[in-house]
Amino acid sequence: MLDTTIAGSLPKPSWLAEPEKLWAPWRLDGADLEQGKRDAALVWIKEQEDAGIDIVTEGEQFRVHFVHGFLEHVDGIDWQKKTKMGIRDNRYVVDVPTVTAPLGRKRAVHTEEARFARAHTKRGLKFTLPGPMTICDTIADAHYGRRADMAMAFAGLLNAEARELEAEGVDLIQFDEPAFNVFMDDVKEWGIAALHKAIEGLKCQTAVHICYGYGIKANLDWKQSLGGEWRQYEEIFPALNESRLDQVSLECANSKVPLSLIGLLSNKTVMVGAIDVASETVETPEQVAATIRAAMEFVDAGRISPCTNCGMAPLPRDVAAGKLRALGAGAGLVRREVAGT
Ligand code: ZN
Repeated sequence: MLDTTIAGSLPKPSWLAEPEKLWAPWRLDGADLEQGKRDAALVWIKEQEDAGIDIVTEGEQFRVHFVHGFLEHVDGIDWQKKTKMGIRDNRYVVDVPTVTAPLGRKRAVHTEEARFARAHTKRGLKFTLPGPMTICDTIADAHYGRRADMAMAFAGLLNAEARELEAEGVDLIQFDEPAFNVFMDDVKEWGIAALHKAIEGLKCQTAVHICYGYGIKANLDWKQSLGGEWRQYEEIFPALNESRLDQVSLECANSKVPLSLIGLLSNKTVMVGAIDVASETVETPEQVAATIRAAMEFVDAGRISPCTNCGMAPLPRDVAAGKLRALGAGAGLVRREVAGT
């Protein structure tokens, strides 16, 4: 009960990449880089275990970017053909690569990483992949014509990848879909259908992570524009609750999401974000416990998995480690309360 986990990413050690920078380039190369990524993953698996995290990740130490880390290994993308695109509904404009031919996976992308992590922990193991809608919001289309069609093509590739991760012993596969908070109609029209294609045939637990983004300026400005109460989740939760995904990962700590909305997810395990990733202040275990207790007003403890709001990649390393310990300790407090009643 109250099994703890994290959204996915953790900071890279300073010897691997420039710290406190999102999408920082590597500081090593060749064989040193490959060894460095494995060493960093080991550090974070151990930190998570020591903090009492029940379902650990490799901290996304093997990838620079949560979407491009996958796309680098996909055929059909012209990386030279840059298209200007306002992503997340024009929250920020960037030059993105363009899909110019049918998509295909060149090779398994994360299999070796999952095998490595599995060999080094007996805890539950979670692995994250970008969701089809969020991928489509990060790349331009000059081939498929409809975003929904391109999403389905990506979903097929993700499904092949997910099946291989499951075969390596991954217990929980999570698809990151920050775009679900932005394109709510598309979620209902094709976003969930694309996720269903991505999880087809899987027997392990499956999850979708829907957040308000890392604590970077564009996201903080966007959050400012959303008003006093964030109700984006309300539009998609009824459809998500009917979906075949097992778990939903949400932003709850220090957020303006009315917690009552998680009551709409009566069929799901809810990963309750009890760690604010947009603040460098480390929560106390009591603060984490308070967020979990607040969620328990709407969801039984048996369906709550205390988690972080989002990835911790941009945070200082000691802050992220402190937040891991607060998460583990806070969940422990509530677990003992529940056991004692
Ligand atoms: Zn997130």
